[in-house]
Amino acid sequence: MADCKLTGRCPIFNDKMNIDKETAAAFKAKYCQGNNQDCARFTIFKNGKGVPPDLLPDMMDRAKEIIAGK
Ligand code: SF4
Repeated sequence: MADCKLTGRCPIFNDKMNIDKETAAAFKAKYCQGNNQDCARFTIFKNGKGVPPDLLPDMMDRAKEIIAGK
C-alpha cells in the first residue's frame, strides 16, 4: 500500500512525539506505510477536523468522538 500522504508533516512519522522507538516503528509499519484508513490521526484529518497534537494512531475511539463533536 502507498505511504500515507501526511508522512511529510506528521509528528508520528517524523519522530516528533514522545513515544519509544519500537512503538513509533510499529505505528509507521501498521499505519503510515500500511493502512492509513485505520489511523486515528488520518481519520480526523480526512474529516476536516483539527488533529490534537498528542493523538496516537491507535486512538480511534477518541477520533470518532472528535469527528462527532464530543
Ligand atoms: S498514517 Fe497516521 S500517523 Fe502515519 S503519517 Fe498518516 S496520519 Fe500520520
